[in-house]
This record gives sequence, C-alpha cells and structure tokens, in this order.
Amino acid sequence: MDGLAVDYFDGRSARAVPARLSFDGASLHLRGENLERQFAPRELRWPERTRHGVRVAELPDGASLHCADGAAWDAFARHCGRGEGWVVRAQQSWRWVLASALATMALLAALYVWGIPAAAQAALALVPLEVDRQIGAAALEQLDEELLKPSRIDALQQRRTRDAFAQALAAQPPGTLPAVRVEFRSSNLGPNAFALPDGTLVLTDELFILADGDADMITGVLAHELGHVRYRHGMRMLLQASAVGVLASIVVGDFNSLLAAAPVVLGQAGYSRDAEREADAESARLLRDAGLSPAVMAAFFEKMARREGGATPLAPLGIAIGSHPADAERIAFFRAAAAQKL
Ligand SMILES: [Zn+2]
Repeated sequence: MDGLAVDYFDGRSARAVPARLSFDGASLHLRGENLERQFAPRELRWPERTRHGVRVAELPDGASLHCADGAAWDAFARHCGRGEGWVVRAQQSWRWVLASALATMALLAALYVWGIPAAAQAALALVPLEVDRQIGAAALEQLDEELLKPSRIDALQQRRTRDAFAQALAAQPPGTLPAVRVEFRSSNLGPNAFALPDGTLVLTDELFILADGDADMITGVLAHELGHVRYRHGMRMLLQASAVGVLASIVVGDFNSLLAAAPVVLGQAGYSRDAEREADAESARLLRDAGLSPAVMAAFFEKMARREGGATPLAPLGIAIGSHPADAERIAFFRAAAAQKL
C-alpha cells in the first residue's frame, strides 16, 4: 500500500483505525478498514511541526489523524505542498532567535529615534483641544509665579500692538485661525516671544524694545507664534517628552500627568527645526495676506543676531522664538518670501 501510515480517530470513539493517507495532487485520500474519505488539503488543520511527539491533524468534523513518525509526516506534508511556516522554521533555529532579538532591538532603537515623534503626531489627534486650553492656562500661571513680571510697556503701546496684529489677522477668512491672545510681560529672558498651547502669545518687553515697537515686525513675530499654536507644536513636544505617560493618559482619558509636566517641558525643550520652519511659513503667509512684507521678519532676525553676537544670550525659554539662533537660513527664507510677487 502506498501513502502515509496514520491512525484515524473518528472523533466519537477512542478507537484508532489504521489508515493510509495519500495525495493525488488535488485531494487527500484516506483509506482503511471500512474507511474511505476524501478531502481538500485546506480542510485539514495541519499540525505545527515540533521537535518531538506525534503529529495530530484535525478534520472539521472532529475526526483526527495521528502520525507517530514525525519525519515521515513532514515529508508527506511537503509532498502535498505544505511548506512549513516561517514561524516554525524560525523557532527551531537559534540563528533565527538571535536574528529576531537583534531585529527587535533595532526596531526599538528606530522607534526611539523616529517612532516617538511619529507616535506623538498621531497621538495629538487623540488629545482634546480642551487639554491644550487647560495646559496653557496652567503654564502661564506658573510662569507668572516663577519667571515673568508685569510688563512696563505702557497700555497705549500695548493696545496699538494688539490692534495691528488683529488687523493683520482680519485678512484671513473667518474661522480659519486658532483663537489667540497677546500678553506682555517683563522678564529676564531677553527679547523673546512664545506661544502657549491655549493660544496665549507672550511678548517680552525686551523684544518690544528691540523691535523699536515696530508694529509690522511684532506682527510677524506674533504670526510666527500663532503658527506654533495652529500646528499644536507645544502639545506635540509635550507628548513627545512624556511619550509613555501620555499613552497611559490617552488610554485612561486622564491628562493630569500631562498638565503636571507641561511647564517643565515647555520651559526646557525646544521646538524641532521643522516646527520652526512651519511657524516661519505661517508668519510669511499671514504677513503677505495682510499686505505686509515678510522682510520685516528678516530684519527682526538680523536684529536678534546682532544682539546675540555680543553678550552671551540669556537662557531663553525652550518654546520661545530665541530658542534657535537666528540663522542665515531663516533670514534667507523671509527675504525670498518678501521677493515673491503678491
Ligand atoms: Zn518658533
């Protein structure tokens, strides 16, 4: 007799029926005493190969085939076109085990380098805007306690600055911008401006003075900060810095740990270079739409550069405009934006 020797169990009685299993290229045939069955290979639940033990293959009706000769079964399975799954092969080889351990480590490293920023970006969509508002309010409160002092810029000049900025924003279609609010503060941060996640844009007196109160220039700076709010850069940074805790926050819907971490992270970490480019692009766009020249921002960064060229700049706030050196690339960007025809 040809075929593979197996024991057949009908699934009802415990009696083993010796049988032969053969394959005709399309169907499997099982023949034994008072036994004649035919079925497709895919109907059989093929056993996974293990190093030892009997191979047991099950049929949908509860019947099963047992084969004590593992090597013969495996040869038969290959004859039927049943290549072993790579999982089984891998499990049997220590080389594969080592390779997969190394691959896992590489994956973790990649996740750390590229994955967390990507994950933070995805997580951003899951964080309700209400959290941005709460974090912004809490952060300003804490900054006011520890770092900022009331502004000494007179109320009239503050109002003119706010009005000029509001007028520039009025060129945008209604409902297309995040809600923002301009706050003046005195500080030892030097000329600085920063955005909190709730849309509070803080301008230091020192920046106002550096810009000679130039309304267009300050509008450009505030528009840059508005870009950070629009793209939720602060929140993204916060999510990135506290990635693991944030995952838990999203799962349980409790953002208190994020609230607690906010002032520290916002104060220390800087936006990515890409985030700065996005905010610069937003500034150029808002200026142009308002009929103002983006050249004011090039002039602003030149002023910053001249200032930094002298004394060591004071430690800026992480999220602030001065968190990256005013470099040639940014100046060139605004010059090019200014040169474009309206
Ligand atoms: Zn910025």
